[in-house]
Amino acid sequence: MKKCTLCADRIYNENLPEEERKPACVLSCPTRARVFGDIDDPQSEASIAIREKHGYRLMPEAGTDASYLPAWGQVLFLAENTIY
Ligand code: SF4
Repeated sequence: MKKCTLCADRIYNENLPEEERKPACVLSCPTRARVFGDIDDPQSEASIAIREKHGYRLMPEAGTDASYLPAWGQVLFLAENTIY
């Protein structure tokens, strides 16, 4: 089994257009079950989703930066300070 890499080869690839610098699973999900963004940017899709859907950090005691939105049942992948 391989661990999720958060598609680091995509999200930091400056050869890709900005809108494509997201994990493959985020881009390919037809129901938009995952959101990706920088929570330090209040205008990011992730920040807006957290504010509007009352998201919270998942297991902060473990030093994670992934957030969870219980209203949607979605996991957010965060662009900054993410632990793989
Ligand atoms: S971010 Fe998604 S597509 Fe990329 S490695 Fe992790 S689970 Fe797979």
